[in-house]
Amino acid sequence: MRLNISSLAGRKGASFRVKRELPGKFVESAPEVIQVLGPILAELQVTNTGEGYLVTGSLSLEVELLCSRCLRPLETTLETAIEEEFLNHPQEHSEDPWDEDPLVEGNELDTTSLIEESLLVSIPMKPVCQEDCLGLCPGCGALLSEGVCDCPDPTIDIRLAPLSKLLAQTSETTTSERRKDHGSSKEKTFKSKS
Ligand SMILES: [Zn+2]
Ligand SMILES: [Zn+2]
Repeated sequence: MRLNISSLAGRKGASFRVKRELPGKFVESAPEVIQVLGPILAELQVTNTGEGYLVTGSLSLEVELLCSRCLRPLETTLETAIEEEFLNHPQEHSEDPWDEDPLVEGNELDTTSLIEESLLVSIPMKPVCQEDCLGLCPGCGALLSEGVCDCPDPTIDIRLAPLSKLLAQTSETTTSERRKDHGSSKEKTFKSKS
């Protein structure tokens, strides 16, 4: 997005607010993102600092991500704050050439890469559909949140054991009773075989 700042030219301390909807398709280049569900909502404030123009504000974007545990889609809103100063003239003694402030281009600020980078880093590294998502059974790939599968899997992570217990309690009593019985009889057969 290019912002025209001619209304602020020569007026140090002056500012304006801008509210825009922007295309967010580029976010789909991130492997965690299945699809973008709407436009980017950008609410920015631009202030003339004398040396340049300070852009602050917030961005939000609704996206569909892949749960890192159960691999099902989940909807969430990426939200991020931005703050960047665009300078009228390049800094003379820049310590880190990779971290230079962007420059004013004529009477415009090009906020495109600022907006893109801010949103891309706001994508969670390991998104989960819910905090206690149990993920998939390592044996058969079944969704553990939908109940216990038939795998007599002795390698089940003991750290997850209290969670699955809790889940069994919350599901319908008759179903969980039947599943428990089924599970224990399976366990017996398994044991007697070995
Ligand atoms: Zn999940
Ligand atoms: Zn299984």
